[in-house]
Amino acid sequence: MSDLLTTALSIAARGWPVFPLRTGSKVPALHGETRCPRTGACTDGHTKPEQRATTDLDRIRTAWATTAYNVGLATGPAGLVVIDLDPPKQSDPPGTQSGAQILEALCQATGEQVPPTFTVTTPSGGRHLYFTAPAGVTMRSTQDILGRHIDTRAWGGYVVAPGSVTPAGAYRVTDDRPVAPLPNWLQAKLAAPPRIIARPLVARSAPRSGGRRAAYADAALRNEERNVADAPEGHRNKALVRAARALGRLIALGDLDRDEVEQALSRGAEAAGLKPYEYRSAITSALNWSIRNNPVSRRTA
Ligand SMILES: [Zn+2]
Repeated sequence: MSDLLTTALSIAARGWPVFPLRTGSKVPALHGETRCPRTGACTDGHTKPEQRATTDLDRIRTAWATTAYNVGLATGPAGLVVIDLDPPKQSDPPGTQSGAQILEALCQATGEQVPPTFTVTTPSGGRHLYFTAPAGVTMRSTQDILGRHIDTRAWGGYVVAPGSVTPAGAYRVTDDRPVAPLPNWLQAKLAAPPRIIARPLVARSAPRSGGRRAAYADAALRNEERNVADAPEGHRNKALVRAARALGRLIALGDLDRDEVEQALSRGAEAAGLKPYEYRSAITSALNWSIRNNPVSRRTA
């Protein structure tokens, strides 16, 4: 058994979904969205590594059977928030602080602490601090919210798992203690205002894996998609806006992911006979309205 297969299996055994990265690289081995052949797992639309990541040991054995892929860890579905502390880049002016130094300064300034936790050291000398995500909250990946050279990897992101190797060296576990919960003060700092940007919508019917969220959120998602799909002509836009506002509340509460809501509503709108130019901006603005006007986002705005 190759070392990297062993690595992938051991990561998955912790309950952390994995996917292959190109050998010796940090880049997903799977094709990107722009090169999607729309076959296999992508028959109904492109699926991202986060959606294809798995803890299924047989699937992992098959995927790693002949190729020594590096191991990508899908942090969102793993229920993790990983703080990524980078060293200064070569292009930075001399004396630039590392992510670790900036985080330490942040702790001193706020009187808060970062508890010791499971830690991976990267070949460049960066560090990945692993934390469990708070229950019932969709933590997104962030960049530079805590400070320069500090990213976080959660939903929408991934980390290179320990055991992976690049030409620069190996990702190694340098603190093997259990993963600590994300401290409240960091959660509060990372709970950025909801994204209020128009994004291209891709209709897709692939179900999400996971199963962590409340059953009522799943039911609400299905019901609202059907409400939109079944709306008679003349009422379709109204039904769409009402559905988007209802589901937007669940996004703000962390019960649903914005991407899957956008996709479900797009499917419903398509089924109702609306064209993308008719439903895209309606969905975006109704979701933004709803996310802005609920208690959770008011608190974190
Ligand atoms: Zn694809």
